[in-house]
Amino acid sequence: MAKKKLLFATGNQGKVNEIRQILGDGYEVYSMKEMNVNVDIVEDGKTFEENAIIKAKAVMEATGEMTLADDSGFEVDCLNREPGIYSARYMGEDTPYDKKNAELIRRCEGVPDSERTARFVCVIACAYPDGTVDTATGIIEGEIAHEPRGEHGFGYDPIFYLPERGCTTAEMLPEEKNKISHRGIAIRKMAEILKKRGTL
Ligand code: IMP
Repeated sequence: MAKKKLLFATGNQGKVNEIRQILGDGYEVYSMKEMNVNVDIVEDGKTFEENAIIKAKAVMEATGEMTLADDSGFEVDCLNREPGIYSARYMGEDTPYDKKNAELIRRCEGVPDSERTARFVCVIACAYPDGTVDTATGIIEGEIAHEPRGEHGFGYDPIFYLPERGCTTAEMLPEEKNKISHRGIAIRKMAEILKKRGTL
């Protein structure tokens, strides 16, 4: 059977590889770079879901191809769920994460462990050429750490503590993290949705 073509609206090759692995042989997954697609997208949604849909639809409309896009971020409950949809832009896009992480920890000083709950959220949207859209959400619950730990991962991983494992996600190997991560969960859910729609 011919493979289906799927475009992943991301500049992050790691995400493209991850989705290729999960979707398996039924699909040819292309990144924007591989398809030579350049679309200016204004991410002005108020939620992860809105932003994922905006990105998937914009690229689908520009290319006519079935397109996936994701939006994710870090929510800290005692900070009113900041940085949330502004996770990449928190304190400025170019500010190094050791500074962003130190600032989040500082803002949580004195907050008891029971109120330090935090999570990573990922929403994946799939925009189909007929104008319809599916979304899948993945969440991983944890706490904001008292100090950064671990060398793996990226972004807020060093300060995202999983009490049941006794480590941060930056202390986990990438393949271990992918099994339980917000993105891994959302991608696997999206693969199920595509299968049910008969597009896999
Ligand atoms: P994106 O939507 O996947 O580009 O993620 C937006 C931002 O959320 C990233 O720039 C990071 O700040 C944060 N983020 C999302 N997923 C993770 C993760 O798995 N580890 C650490 N930070 C993350």
